[in-house]
Amino acid sequence: MTQEVAGASSAWQVALQQYDRAADKLNLGPAVREVLRNPKREVTVHFPVQLDDGTIKVFTGYRVWHNVTRGPAKGGIRFHPLTDLQEVRALSMYMTWKCACVKIPYGGAKGGVTCDPKKMSSRELERLTRRFTTELGEMIGPDSDIPAPDVNTNAQVMAWMMDTYSMHRGYSVTGVVTGKPVSIGGSEGRQDATGRGVVYMIQEAAKSIDLDLRGARVAVQGFGNAGEAAARFLGELGARVVAVSDSRGGVFSEDGLDLPLLTRHKQETGSVIGAPRTQALSNDELLETDCEILIPAALEGVITERNAARIKARIIAEAANGPTNPEADDILRRRGTVVIPDILCNAGGVTVSYFEWVQDREEFFWSLDEINARLRRIMVRAYDDVQRTASEHDIDLRLAAYMLAVSRVAEATMTRGIYP
Ligand code: GLU
Repeated sequence: MTQEVAGASSAWQVALQQYDRAADKLNLGPAVREVLRNPKREVTVHFPVQLDDGTIKVFTGYRVWHNVTRGPAKGGIRFHPLTDLQEVRALSMYMTWKCACVKIPYGGAKGGVTCDPKKMSSRELERLTRRFTTELGEMIGPDSDIPAPDVNTNAQVMAWMMDTYSMHRGYSVTGVVTGKPVSIGGSEGRQDATGRGVVYMIQEAAKSIDLDLRGARVAVQGFGNAGEAAARFLGELGARVVAVSDSRGGVFSEDGLDLPLLTRHKQETGSVIGAPRTQALSNDELLETDCEILIPAALEGVITERNAARIKARIIAEAANGPTNPEADDILRRRGTVVIPDILCNAGGVTVSYFEWVQDREEFFWSLDEINARLRRIMVRAYDDVQRTASEHDIDLRLAAYMLAVSRVAEATMTRGIYP
């Protein structure tokens, strides 16, 4: 996808523009403004991994802490061929705002390894994960920095990270990562949490514009952890998922796609493309599909000034991080499209990560019902706060979410003061 290239190279510029808009609106003082504009800590590691054919390849990985004023660094690790420091830096800043937006006591971080996991075996990915975890050394830990899954990583990758970290310590440290399998201290509901939270947010947005979700048409870009779950939950609410795509392309059906069939097809073939009783469509076409709800659930930089005016959806729910650039935001606002911003919309993942970490620390685990109820309460309250701020200032939901998040981090920074 060409957008992936554009998105990856400009992600940090976009993150800064979004931050600057909020800082301007808040009239943030120059000192704190400068502090929050910069990531606190950036680590780049180059490390060798033995491949299955016996050759050795050197990989590059990153971990960036944007800000840890409100709590330990928190954020996912992605494996992707286009991941670079600029992208990871942008994503770490998003995590700071996301945690502040839903008021969970974490700072923001992100990590990534530049690699193509789809071309690697499970054993190779395990060696890569274990070596990367070791290279991060003292940086990660349950009190300092807690990784989680992101693009192309999953519960198994987290299990390898937790095991590697624990081997070095000499005892099991479950709270060093979240998004682990339930059998080793993971939380019920974490797997589906991002998608579930996205749907809670869509329900709130739909109420605000009087849109009935029963029969509403939905297009989902990205059929990974977040996109698949969001599509499934919307289907359960009676919505009609008409288009779905992954990195290789998309499928369309006017009558609604058979989601269990699509999931099976993707498991068997590696992609949704070519699933029975569907028409092919490209990732660009998917974004412009006739629908009420569009869910970008893949990578950043896909909705820009080039295609924003052709998007027909009434609600855009950002399950991905950074899918929309500021120029596109302006166009969508003029057109009356409701954009539920990433730092609110996809915060369900990190919220249940927080629950997982709390459960690990207490060594006392909650039921799925309890987790989902608490998740809904936190996210709906955050939505109400953002909506109220947007109405008060006559601004869009993104700027409102940023104003709330940035002001909370700024206040924490000023309250703690500058050391020494
Ligand atoms: N990678 C997810 C995100 O972007 C989850 C992060 C986490 O749970 O720490 O929000």
